[in-house]
Amino acid sequence: APDSDMQLIRMHEYLTDLYHHILMHTNEGQQALDYLTDRGFSADIIRKEKIGIAPDMRDFTKNALSEKGYSMELAYQAGLISRNEENFSYYDRFSGRIMIPIRNHQGYIVGYTARSLDGREPKYLNTPETPIFQKRQLLYNLSDARKDIRKKDEVILMEGHLDVVKVKMTDVQNIVGLMGTALSGENIHTLNRLASNITFMFDGDEAGQSAQMTLGEQLLKSGANVYVISIPKGLDPDEYIETRGTEAFETLVKNERKHYIHFKADQLLEESLNNDMAFSTNLNSLAEQLKFVKDEVTREKLLQHISSAYKIDKKSIENKVPAVNKNST
Ligand code: ATP
Ligand code: MN
Ligand code: MN
Ligand code: MN
Repeated sequence: APDSDMQLIRMHEYLTDLYHHILMHTNEGQQALDYLTDRGFSADIIRKEKIGIAPDMRDFTKNALSEKGYSMELAYQAGLISRNEENFSYYDRFSGRIMIPIRNHQGYIVGYTARSLDGREPKYLNTPETPIFQKRQLLYNLSDARKDIRKKDEVILMEGHLDVVKVKMTDVQNIVGLMGTALSGENIHTLNRLASNITFMFDGDEAGQSAQMTLGEQLLKSGANVYVISIPKGLDPDEYIETRGTEAFETLVKNERKHYIHFKADQLLEESLNNDMAFSTNLNSLAEQLKFVKDEVTREKLLQHISSAYKIDKKSIENKVPAVNKNST
């Protein structure tokens, strides 16, 4: 990285240690530490991730950085300090929040996602786009997960940063978090280079399910094998682990995986059976997506599943996708 980037990174490394120290060893951090402990985060994982607390003050970070000799201009560029555009005064961007460091693919800390403790909105405040923090190029936890992703030839995608942190306390290590609700072209390229299999494990709510549906289609079209591990309604991976335990979670990850198209077929089934127009639209869209499944056996198995679930002859589904037959050898 260029020198100017390294300077911004050094500011983050310095602050991360400071915030972490305050969380672990001072009265100011006690409430936040209790909060994290109550949510089931161990001291080990808090240390490993260097999670911290930004004190609830207007100029704690500002003063800490300026005592270290950093210019406010630079701190502002790093997204650590905000600026009042009327009188050009500087003040802390993050205060009274749990600081979760975000590393780039090389493992350097380049920003934060910061959770409020007291219901203050927004619940999560992120570092803004900066020279070193570009969301389209980041996948949370990639630097730690890379090795296990390669070994398993699978990457599991999650929505929430704290979901990833909680899952890191289990045997499941090939996990990354998305930086928001979209996948950039860069993200898709990175994921495809890492592994042939991409598995979604989003929250078991409406938002999670629908994001999974949209992003899964994008990845399928990019050539990946896409799977879904369904989380029961109302839970996210973190809550699943808290309510059912680590072993149940590990078993879920080991045993449950639906192909994206299988998942989608099941999701759309109920409305399709009661609504002939939806039946036709949904079947067309499933057939359309089948042509992105390269493996012949997988495609055959999906055809069979759809055919039996939708009670429609396999041939008539295949006929909707002439490309399936022509493209396969
Ligand atoms: P928690 O368990 O701490 O309540 P969560 O991860 O379950 O958090 P969700 O509401 O499920 O939170 O949101 C999923 C993810 O979306 C969050 O982890 C965060 O990365 C992102 N997110 C949620 N709310 C915001 C927000 N207001 N601004 C930016 N990102 C957000
Ligand atoms: Mn969630
Ligand atoms: Mn959650
Ligand atoms: Mn099924």
